Amino acid sequence: MPRVLAVVVVMLALAGATSAAQPVVQPPVDQPDAASLDLFVRGLESILQRGDANAFLALLATSANRPRANGFTSTELLPGASHAVVQERDRQKLPMAPGAAYRLVVDTFTDFGTHARISTWRIDLARPGEGASGEWAIVDEERISSVENIFRLTLKATKQYAARQLKISAEDLDLTLTDGSMFVSEIDGGVTALVLLGRGTLNFHPAPDTEKGQIRIFCGNDALETAFTAAFVRINPNDFESLVPASQIREVSVDARELRRAQDLFRDESAKSFSIDLGDLSRDAWSLVPGAGDLVAEVRTRKYDTLTYAKSTSEAEDITLFDRKRKHNVSLYASREKLARRGPFYDEDDLADYDVLDYDVDVNVFPDRQWLDGRAILRLRVRSYGVATLTLRLAETLTVQSIGSREYGRLFGVRVKNQNMVIVSLPTFVPKGTQITLIVNYAGRLEPQAADREALQVGQPAVESDLPTLVAEKSYLYSNRSYWYPQSTVSDYAMAKIRVTVPAMMDCVASGELDPGFPLPLDAKDGAPPRKIYVFTASRPLRYLALVLSRFARAETATIGLDGSALHVSVETNPRQAGRGHDLAERAADIAAFYESLLGDVPYSSFTVALVESDLPGGHSPAYFAELNQPLPTSPLVWRNDPAAFTGFPDFFLAHEMAHQWWGQAVGWRNYHEQWISEGFAQYFAALYAQHQRGNEVFESILRHMRRWAVDRSDQGPVYLGYRLGHVRDESRVFRALVYNKGALVLHMLRRLIGDEAFFNGLRRFYRNERFKKAGTEDLRAAMEAESGQPLGRFFEKWIYGATLPKLRVAWNVEGTSVVVHVEQVGEVFDVPLTMSVQYADKKPAVVVIPVTDRIVDRRIPIAGAVRAVDVARDDGPVADVTVGKWPPPGVHPPARTAQTPE
Ligand SMILES: [Zn+2]
Repeated sequence: MPRVLAVVVVMLALAGATSAAQPVVQPPVDQPDAASLDLFVRGLESILQRGDANAFLALLATSANRPRANGFTSTELLPGASHAVVQERDRQKLPMAPGAAYRLVVDTFTDFGTHARISTWRIDLARPGEGASGEWAIVDEERISSVENIFRLTLKATKQYAARQLKISAEDLDLTLTDGSMFVSEIDGGVTALVLLGRGTLNFHPAPDTEKGQIRIFCGNDALETAFTAAFVRINPNDFESLVPASQIREVSVDARELRRAQDLFRDESAKSFSIDLGDLSRDAWSLVPGAGDLVAEVRTRKYDTLTYAKSTSEAEDITLFDRKRKHNVSLYASREKLARRGPFYDEDDLADYDVLDYDVDVNVFPDRQWLDGRAILRLRVRSYGVATLTLRLAETLTVQSIGSREYGRLFGVRVKNQNMVIVSLPTFVPKGTQITLIVNYAGRLEPQAADREALQVGQPAVESDLPTLVAEKSYLYSNRSYWYPQSTVSDYAMAKIRVTVPAMMDCVASGELDPGFPLPLDAKDGAPPRKIYVFTASRPLRYLALVLSRFARAETATIGLDGSALHVSVETNPRQAGRGHDLAERAADIAAFYESLLGDVPYSSFTVALVESDLPGGHSPAYFAELNQPLPTSPLVWRNDPAAFTGFPDFFLAHEMAHQWWGQAVGWRNYHEQWISEGFAQYFAALYAQHQRGNEVFESILRHMRRWAVDRSDQGPVYLGYRLGHVRDESRVFRALVYNKGALVLHMLRRLIGDEAFFNGLRRFYRNERFKKAGTEDLRAAMEAESGQPLGRFFEKWIYGATLPKLRVAWNVEGTSVVVHVEQVGEVFDVPLTMSVQYADKKPAVVVIPVTDRIVDRRIPIAGAVRAVDVARDDGPVADVTVGKWPPPGVHPPARTAQTPE
């Protein structure tokens, strides 16, 4: 998802609202009134277009407050409109006797040519006397909210500049037009967009080392320098003078061919950012203005197609370089100014204006048409200092039919184009701590999302197919990447109630516990196919809501008793897979009981495994359930040579997906950098379960597999890059090798360094502290430091935030009743545990862990018999380059420092 297009919301709603417009529930409009009210609204439209205050005032009832009406017309009826639209959104009958009275809510749109405004009005009308004879008169009027400063951008056809050595710079970017021409687009006399044509060079040179590493993966060098032929740059008008040095441009007469080229580029590029969709108010392309200091450059390079550079102050990481064609964030990081202000870490919640307390979502899903319609009620609390707008995330294909609030009545919302976002305008500035209940009705086509880990290489069919081709039972997953319900812009722990209706022949599994008595069949309406309804309640906080529809047969259930509570495990499978689901519930319950024994808690009260047929292997684990894909025997895609494929322990996958109930769901991650807290932990817990079930040999083979991938791909970047690992080149195996496997091994190394007791106590402390919150590496560090009494800053610095690996040289020798071991770190000093196993001639080997936390470490290991050999146990997961050298090591004889290593 391109994050570059974050819009600075320049729209403000500063209505002089006296009282909030409470919707009044009243009987429907009397039929005779309807036509005359419609006519009245059309009359308003004409008054708005003419900006005719006198005509409006002439409609006032004798009882109306005239000064108040004068105030209203002075801001709402402005001269110079070329076009106006009034759309009625709500009509309520008000009690009045004698006669009739109505409250109308209308959205108005006034187009002034180059700019426009939107305003939502409440108009109260009355008609004195009986019957339909009298005229409607305005009793009261109020602006509920407004959106100012939206612009229609056009390229100025009368102005062209010749440019030479024109250098436009933003942080870490230089765009140099060596020789060419420049066209501009102006609003209110200031330049807000530039079109550059000619011969130019883009130079992007990110300051952070990690970003240099990603640029190197992208182009082979630490900085990207590439030729461009055209560029579109969007700026705040106040920045024009400082960005475009007057000395490098010269106005020339307009060349018709150049202008046409510039206009083509302008048309293609200008709608990509800051663009809003006004729905039925206007079909034209309207644009917001970038904030001061913000800039977006769409640069057409010869080699890389269009690259987008954006500086966007409202984002936590405000500098991006985006590869449009391949949809990759090549670079994404915080500017120097942002780093100076907030330090190296951030919590994505800090950017959220509000916190959702609970969701009440009611949806009808029509899977055959991939259609859904619904209503969502969000109870939220303002977190920031105060807000005039609220931004919701909702899939762009879903149309918002109405937005209202219990507190403010009907609200106006605009769609930001190319983003799954809706900006809701509030009638007044709402201070921190205020609770607002939003009600959103929406409908549209929505494709289900794929399970995770979908990008696998295509291999040979697992079975040579003289088998008949099987068609997978269809399933439809709507979850965190679908934006199938209006939600916070960041994942946000909240309780939820989900009501979902589905075709009667389909079944549903969703986030939450199924309410007793459901599903219930619904009465078929007008010959429509029969449907049924499910109700799910999530009484524990969830990061996001999910549901999966398919044809399910309940295979079995199991319950495990816990201290004072119980966990219900059930398995739903596609009918053909019922056999596979046979003992799955027992296995899932066993896994849950094991995790509970490690952490002392089960976060969610029920868990469902939904086993669905699929052409793709993969899984997805929201709270309360996991979807596991079961590839068919004829599926052309197989797990082969993948960091996350553990053929030696088939339950690994189930154990991993289940661990997400604790890690990833109950304990979330603070931002994308911290995803290893979900995937690395789930991976390590699955390995621990393998050890518990099958013993050390299987455990070690899993660690060996993880280590191989982690060592091999570590140069692709630090674990802290999260989804961006492998992203630039679409190599999802890099992501799994590092976020999953290296992440798991970091935990294992930490355990070896601080010992089992401190490690497992640290895990429990971390879990307890962070349950139903978003955690980061620094929270884990604090918990582990508290339990181990050791400083762990360097440990995480190197293993999570850094991408290099330690190089260890090990030598050993038997001296009397000891084995002396000498370890040297070549290059950077890490904290890394080294496991050695002393092989005796006549007894079991003794295993010793040496914490290597200095450049040189010498150990003396007491022995109890004839030593055959000393092995460096690489299987135990040190993600390091370990070589065993000859004794004595150069410059060390006898050992400089020795210590007894406790067993
Ligand atoms: Zn996972």
